[in-house]
Amino acid sequence: MPKHSPTSLDPRSPLVLDTRELPRRPGALRTVKRVVQAPSDLGVELIGVPEGADLDLDLRMESVSEGVLVSGTVSGPIRGECGRCLREIDDSVTVTIQELYAYENSTTDATTEEDEVGRLQGDLIDLEPALRDAVVLALPTNPLCRQDCPGLCPDCGVHWDDLPADHSHQQVDPRWAGLSQLTRTEE
Ligand SMILES: [Zn+2]
Ligand SMILES: [Zn+2]
Repeated sequence: MPKHSPTSLDPRSPLVLDTRELPRRPGALRTVKRVVQAPSDLGVELIGVPEGADLDLDLRMESVSEGVLVSGTVSGPIRGECGRCLREIDDSVTVTIQELYAYENSTTDATTEEDEVGRLQGDLIDLEPALRDAVVLALPTNPLCRQDCPGLCPDCGVHWDDLPADHSHQQVDPRWAGLSQLTRTEE
């Protein structure tokens, strides 16, 4: 019985790396430069890479004794919302990837768990999980439109940038205002 089920990866899928062109000889190298469409849900709640946006892959695959080391960068646009004022954020992110994928039936395959070291499936590598981890780690959990964003006035919801410096909602309570009028009439 083979330890692994037949591969379910599609070699034409943009986030699947094909190592057939890479000799299984330690030190052999191949570069992977391609632009792919971002998968859905690549991000966190408030910010992420829009689905279908261009992701720039600039990677190299290197044969090592037990598998293939994939390293390089992935960059793409990110869009989100400021956690303080809800204004749109348009930015970009570049993440570094360095991930070892073990050959099927190698010693590494036999002695490690799949969540510690990735696995080749046949000649294919599924890059998506490592890419997701790297992007999500690089994103701010509390994104801001700018570092010193003052946020919104809690009473009227207007951005502090758009309000005069002395903006305030401290008014005389209308009931007291009425009383003071009353006092005046009595005089
Ligand atoms: Zn803001
Ligand atoms: Zn206000």
